[in-house]
Amino acid sequence: MAKSIAIVGGGVSGLTCGVLFAERGFRAAIFAEQIGQQTTSGAAAALWFPYDAEPADKVIPWALATYKVLVDLCRDPRSGVSIIELHQYCRTGEIQIPDWAQSFVIPTEVEKSFTVFSSGLSLNVPLMDTTIYLDYLVNRFQKAGGSINANVRFEKLEDVDPKFNLVINCAGIGARGLVHDIDLEPHRGQVAIVPKIDNLKCAIVCDDAPLMYAIPRTNDCVFGGTNDVSNDLAANPATTTAIVDECSRVLKIDNPRVLNERVGLRPFRKSGVRLECGKRRDGRTVIHNYGHGGSGFTLSWGCAETVFSFSSSAE
Ligand SMILES: Cc1cc2nc3c(=O)[nH]c(=O)nc-3n(C[C@H](O)[C@H](O)[C@H](O)COP(=O)(O)OP(=O)(O)OC[C@H]3O[C@@H](n4cnc5c(N)ncnc54)[C@H](O)[C@@H]3O)c2cc1C
Repeated sequence: MAKSIAIVGGGVSGLTCGVLFAERGFRAAIFAEQIGQQTTSGAAAALWFPYDAEPADKVIPWALATYKVLVDLCRDPRSGVSIIELHQYCRTGEIQIPDWAQSFVIPTEVEKSFTVFSSGLSLNVPLMDTTIYLDYLVNRFQKAGGSINANVRFEKLEDVDPKFNLVINCAGIGARGLVHDIDLEPHRGQVAIVPKIDNLKCAIVCDDAPLMYAIPRTNDCVFGGTNDVSNDLAANPATTTAIVDECSRVLKIDNPRVLNERVGLRPFRKSGVRLECGKRRDGRTVIHNYGHGGSGFTLSWGCAETVFSFSSSAE
């Protein structure tokens, strides 16, 4: 079995793989341009919920495997993971309950006071507070002996030091350049971070246009959002205003002040999440783990386990 592993990427996918391998006795090193909170992962609302990722027959099992790990992590207050009641709404007609959610849905009436919505459902899901969870993963990785090398940009995977006989590609949208994957599409998301909202204890989400969500975290609240095909990483002030207006309208509150704006590029891959293992001509094993779209957190532990199983069978 490969014992010396290089992971390219320090977002949720790379860090989760790092924790899993380092805690199982591998010498693991993460190389990335940015780490943790600076990445797309740091801009995420980070609710557990399968969204904007394909294909469903793989995404749902990975998501359910991740759910189990996250429920366990809730017991550790340092992790930044908690269970939150998610109220999911639609703007017209009756909301469709996805097959996978049948056993999750809480059989109670959802909040009826949001008159802008026509129907909704409620379920308990893990929420990862990215301001805590990404640092928690970094610490867990380093405690298990993993090393982090920030500000490292590779033009191609072949540039990774040959002393690593296994390379795991967790480059997110960066895989477009790194492995010339033209199937990757940047699904740009912008959010506004506002102070905690009094009495907002559950997450409010509506996927119908305009996409809207309000997610209370430990020390603040995430207002979203957008999902457009674009590479633009600059926050658009008019978009922030529209997000805050719509969330405030739904919550029936005065517009709160904006503490921060974040933009991230969801790494959506038209042909589905790329989770596959191959041998290179130089004899090195490469495992690709990217293209998780709007579900990188939701799929993180399930995908990391699949990466691990590939590495065992590639011996
Ligand atoms: C606004 C918003 C809200 C979201 N909400 C949710 C949610 O509620 N739930 C959920 O599950 N998901 C959500 N997502 C999606 C989630 O954020 C992504 O799926 C996830 O962050 C992808 O993680 P990743 O680690 O694969 O990629 P990234 O976080 O993008 O990390 C990629 C890493 O690779 C490095 N890298 C890239 N190219 C190179 C290179 N050439 N050389 C060296 N390093 C490189 C980067 O520096 C970075 O460290 C949201 C996304 C956005 C933008």
